[in-house]
Amino acid sequence: MTAPSLVEIAVFLVLLAASAYGFWFRFGRVVRTIRAAKPDPGFSLRPIDKRIRDFISEVLFQSKVIRQRPLPGIAHAFVFWGFCAFALVTLNHFATGVGFPFLARESWFGRVYFYLAAAFAVCVAVSIAGLFIRRFFVRPVWLGGNVSWESGFIAFLIFTLMVTYLTGLWYGESTLGGRVSWWLHTVALFVFLPLIPHTKHLHLALSPVTVFLRRAGFSRIPPLSGDEDFGLDTGKDITRIDALQVFSCVECGRCTEHCPANNTGKVLNPKEIVLGLRGYLKEFGPGNQAPLLGPHISEEAAFQCTTCGSCEFQCPVGIQHLPMIVGLRRGAVNTGKWEDEHGTKLFLNLERNGNALGFPGSERQKFIEKNLLPFYDGTQEYCLWLGCMGAYDPQGREIVLALARVLRYAGITFGVLRKEKCTGDPARRLGNDLVAQQVAEANIETLQSAKVGKMVSICPHCVRTIGTDWREYGATFQIEHHSELLARVQSKLPPASGPRETVVYHDPCYLGRYRDVYDEPRAVVGVASTVVEPGRTRERSFCCGAGGGQMFLGEEKGDRVNVTRVKELVATGAQTIGTACPFCQTMFRDALGAVSAASQTAPPKLLDIVQLVAAGLPAERE
Ligand code: SF4
Ligand code: SF4
Repeated sequence: MTAPSLVEIAVFLVLLAASAYGFWFRFGRVVRTIRAAKPDPGFSLRPIDKRIRDFISEVLFQSKVIRQRPLPGIAHAFVFWGFCAFALVTLNHFATGVGFPFLARESWFGRVYFYLAAAFAVCVAVSIAGLFIRRFFVRPVWLGGNVSWESGFIAFLIFTLMVTYLTGLWYGESTLGGRVSWWLHTVALFVFLPLIPHTKHLHLALSPVTVFLRRAGFSRIPPLSGDEDFGLDTGKDITRIDALQVFSCVECGRCTEHCPANNTGKVLNPKEIVLGLRGYLKEFGPGNQAPLLGPHISEEAAFQCTTCGSCEFQCPVGIQHLPMIVGLRRGAVNTGKWEDEHGTKLFLNLERNGNALGFPGSERQKFIEKNLLPFYDGTQEYCLWLGCMGAYDPQGREIVLALARVLRYAGITFGVLRKEKCTGDPARRLGNDLVAQQVAEANIETLQSAKVGKMVSICPHCVRTIGTDWREYGATFQIEHHSELLARVQSKLPPASGPRETVVYHDPCYLGRYRDVYDEPRAVVGVASTVVEPGRTRERSFCCGAGGGQMFLGEEKGDRVNVTRVKELVATGAQTIGTACPFCQTMFRDALGAVSAASQTAPPKLLDIVQLVAAGLPAERE
């Protein structure tokens, strides 16, 4: 552009100042709110290399955005990449406005850069138009019922920015058309800038930081800081990472789209939990004594979560829902505010009997003795952790016995503990830290005095709690799920003796999303059967409905999660449903009766993956 006149410079500077003020007026308040929240206990930037890798993958390459919703994801990614490409163009635009451009179009670098930016401008214009059509005409239900006019206006501004850039390039800098394009571009830019922090487009500024700073580990429950910390009870309990995350929400609804509770008609909507916390912070700020559960977030919703982790897995901006949801439960349970007869019964069972099912410990002893399970004495390779389901539940016991047979067949030695309590999983995820800690510490003492080395369990919840959650109590035990152990020794497992049956494998949340174990159970099933995949599989697997303590709470509202999932599994036409978690198996057993009665068809078989293997053992080795 030819050098601007003094009047043009003055107008430009006034507009720039107004725009920058509009931006900082709101953005500064958000930054102050985040900084005023309490520091996160136990937060560490290490391991930093993982943070950098995640940042490059999820922010720079937009991997999560694209992988989970390919078409809108790639459109969104082009908008992001376009913004990055335009950073230099925009800086040069500001410099030009005050008469000091640093990037000349005539230079070889300028020519290359401006035309590269033009290519991005075309991609961004097409992408934003596509996203506009999706939001306002296709209108996916997950984006919410209300038409967001601010989103429409922002899309219009981005489209204008791209078109005015291209027309400016087309007309040339010193023509009338070029100058009109330049000023239209300037006005669109200065209107766009203050809108960012005033709308959900705040994620443009915050989400890269959120992804980089999110808590280490998937769905990790953060530690409490001292005796006065009861979880998320009031505003004073909101941490900086919580605050940063809730202000980063882009309201895309991916979390809600994949939430089993929301999908089956419950009140819970993970997006609304995040927006509820944001609403609280906007109204009261951190440090307030008003309870968090109330007008902004419903207690009923917080206690409907199965802790399946779908929401956290899907979120493209690094929001971690589980620390919030479990934190809210903690705030209600640890302070005695949550009243629920089933929850109270569960906690009493754990305190009095040491197991979630409420059986006397002698029942476990009888099961071990009747089935001649060896006790762990330090000489065996593995300590076989039974868990509540494996020790007391009839189907869980069948899975344990099948695993014992397969381990013997494969020549792997094992022993069980003389006493065991629940790992504390349901208590911890329902927010009762006292009970969770009591049972965990009793177990840790038992395991340490038995000098246990490697452990194996049929239950992904036990594996997660022992291997990850107990680190908070200072214990580091090496434990794996039986699918991992069996996959390693699959060459020793019996192959199919007859025709291979079809098995639809259901990924348990705590084995798949929580532990990233997807291939091993399929390898085990594949030894003697043919694996069939349901519609929602692997990372997108749909919960069975038992986790987060839901198995022990009362009747569900709306449709039942287990019935919804079983219908999907049955629809594959597989001869058998293959599970890898005793909770899933119990939930599916209940649901199969209802589903097959309704359809008046014979239900498929329901077996754990180790029961599939055990079925192929030669009779003489039994
Ligand atoms: S963890 Fe699962 S059930 Fe809970 S809010 Fe997230 S998606 Fe919904
Ligand atoms: S929490 Fe994440 S997934 Fe859910 S609406 Fe917000 S940005 Fe989207």
